[in-house]
Amino acid sequence: MGLGNRFCDNAPGTETGVIILKCPNCGNKITIINRWWPGGANDYGSFKLKCSKCGHVFTTRIGRNIDISEVSSGAELLEIIEDN
Ligand SMILES: [Zn+2]
Repeated sequence: MGLGNRFCDNAPGTETGVIILKCPNCGNKITIINRWWPGGANDYGSFKLKCSKCGHVFTTRIGRNIDISEVSSGAELLEIIEDN
């Protein structure tokens, strides 16, 4: 089990956006559900991802809020890296 399915439903009170990126190695499409608390205290940072197609591991910047955002498809979330 990765960290990818922590939230089955939208967290109440949050705003949601979608981040679409490509694996830098194979071009596989990766979709991330980006959530944040409007006007709230949001933690910024990055996700360490493993491409589900080729297994390439890389880090991508998510911004806010890394604690309630999640990977929807295309990769496994290996680690959440908070900004210092
Ligand atoms: Zn890949």
